[in-house]
Amino acid sequence: MQYYPDPTRLNADLHCHSSESDGRWSPEELAAAAAANGVALWSLTDHDEVGGISRARAACSSLGIDFVAGVEISVTWANETLHIVGLGIDETHPVLQEGLQSVRAGRDHRAVEMGAELAKAGIAGAYEGALRYAANPGLVGRTHFARFLVEQGVCETVGDVFQRYLVSGKPGYVPHRWATLTQAVSWIRAAGGQAVIAHPGRYRLNDLLMHALLEEFKALGGGALEVVTGSHTTDQYIRFARIALQYDLKASRGSDFHGPDESRVALGTLPPLPDACVPVWSDWKMSTGSA
Ligand code: AMP
Ligand code: MN
Ligand code: MN
Ligand code: MN
Repeated sequence: MQYYPDPTRLNADLHCHSSESDGRWSPEELAAAAAANGVALWSLTDHDEVGGISRARAACSSLGIDFVAGVEISVTWANETLHIVGLGIDETHPVLQEGLQSVRAGRDHRAVEMGAELAKAGIAGAYEGALRYAANPGLVGRTHFARFLVEQGVCETVGDVFQRYLVSGKPGYVPHRWATLTQAVSWIRAAGGQAVIAHPGRYRLNDLLMHALLEEFKALGGGALEVVTGSHTTDQYIRFARIALQYDLKASRGSDFHGPDESRVALGTLPPLPDACVPVWSDWKMSTGSA
């Protein structure tokens, strides 16, 4: 086994969602799309859930592309929701499994409250409607509500529903306390994985708080930052590549694909990491030799 040759040019896509969380496609459909788009190293990173990993791994093994197990953990830090991706985890590790179970446990209660808030805003049956869109009933989230509201003709797109109903200050928003940063990083590390700050450009953190987050994340053993993601602008690729270098963090790349109509970019189609970055996969061993 050897390292990936020319790692910065490797078509790695290390962030996306299946119907086990809030994606549209099954793990097998995602794996097939990744392979068709030339992805050589892929990860499935469902929200707070690893139920799709074994199917994703099996699909990759028949398609001949490299796979690492992943997850995207919801975290509350400084009153902001952050997402921490774990890559290269042992998804069967009990510490990780129990931790994820505790995060999922809060989701159903939040969803019931969201249904009640939307009812007050004149939209009936949203909890039941959202559950119809959640293939995994243990993992109901805002995206499932958004799809139901589009179905009901309340808004035209999922993005519009978020803007009008599902973000802080809007009628269907219910504040929620997720895992702590310390918990998320420690569960990922316990399971042998690398912790990665997902889409840092999306957080409403001023420079001082961003600095505090990066320092704390590093002190906890966090290892990387998403630099090239479907959530970033090209300016943000440069900004977060600089920050990764400055804080001695590796860089990750991932589309955050949820489905063909709901995502800005398809699997494996983002630009490569900026040359100066150290890819998070630079010290991983190839398994299929497909690179
Ligand atoms: P939840 O974990 O239930 O709070 O849902 C978070 C998910 O909602 C994210 O992972 C995205 O898939 C989706 N999301 C968040 N903000 C937006 C937005 N502005 N437009 C579309 N989808 C969004
Ligand atoms: Mn999502
Ligand atoms: Mn996210
Ligand atoms: Mn995501």
